[in-house]
This record gives sequence, structure tokens and C-alpha cells, in this order.
Amino acid sequence: MDDLKSYIREVPDFPKPGINFYDITTLLKDPHALRQTVDRFAWLFTRKPPIDKVAGIESRGFMFGPSLAYSLNAGFVPVRKPGKLPAAKVSQTYELEYGTDRVEMHADAVSPGERVLIVDDVIATGGTALATAKLVESLGGEVVGFGFIIELAFLPGRGRLTGYEVESLIRY
Ligand code: AMP
Repeated sequence: MDDLKSYIREVPDFPKPGINFYDITTLLKDPHALRQTVDRFAWLFTRKPPIDKVAGIESRGFMFGPSLAYSLNAGFVPVRKPGKLPAAKVSQTYELEYGTDRVEMHADAVSPGERVLIVDDVIATGGTALATAKLVESLGGEVVGFGFIIELAFLPGRGRLTGYEVESLIRY
């Protein structure tokens, strides 16, 4: 699956010194790579019973999550940074290296018993993904799995999602 890796742009020292940023915009702008990305996830997550919702994490989970939802015949729901969602919502705080962050979801985004796939561009420490799973589960949803374009396998992200199916297309 390493062929998709050639479409990723690595940007050193962004957004701050010492961070190597994995930029998916160079993958998304290529018609073949975009189709491959969505089709591979659709193949990995075609299920019986089917997935009801794809939950995309702000902001780069919004860039391919809706295409995947369309392909899986599922709905799409956004998982957002604090203060962005207009209606009644649920929140989950999680730890960062320094301080905390929060993700939010509309309270009616997922109904009890619905099967939810969570997607984002990159899994690093796994904190954002785990907090999103807690949001889905707090609404009574079932997390069917996680789909990441890129997995930073030198970080403990996958280990924090033990018990869930985790799929990634590109690993570093
Ligand atoms: P984490 O909660 O540590 O797994 O971080 C995941 C979130 O941070 C995702 O929404 C990613 O978009 C973003 N992220 C973390 N590290 C990187 C990186 N090196 N390059 C691009 N995005 C990253």
C-alpha cells in the first residue's frame, strides 16, 4: 500500500519547530490517489450490517470522510473543535502533552445502536481518536472501527485504541 505514500508531502518544522507535518492535500488533489484512498477504505469497511455513520474529525477528516460516507451508503457527521457546533452537543476533553483539548459532536448526530466509523487524516498519539470514540459511545453508538490515511507507528496511537479495529493506508 506504500504507493500512496508518494503522494504525501512532508513539511518539516510545521506548525512549529520539531514537528514533521504530513500533508494530505497533495494526495487529495490527485484524482487517482483520491479515488484509491476512498475505495480502499470502502473495501476495508464494507460490513454486514452496514455502517450507519462516518464521523470525520476536524478538519482534515472532513476532506475525505463525506466521500467515504457516500461510498458506504452511510451518513456523515462532523466532530468539531470547541464552540463551532450550533445546536445541543456533547463534549469530551482529552490530555495533550501540555494542557488539554476538547472535541464536540451534536447530541443528535448518532442515535443509540448506530454503527459508526471514525476517520481522520493522521493518527499520532491517538488522543483525539479515543476522545471521539467516547463521544460516539456516550450517545449509544457502536464504534465499528477507525480509518486513518496515515499512521505514525512510532507513536503509541494504535495501542491506545486497543479493542477497536484500526485501519491505516500509509505508515511511517
Ligand atoms: P493525536 O490526537 O495525537 O493522534 O493527533 C491527531 C490529530 O493531530 C489529527 O487530527 C491530525 O490531523 C493531527 N496531527 C498530529 N500529528 C500530525 C502530523 N505530524 N502531521 C499532520 N497532522 C498531525
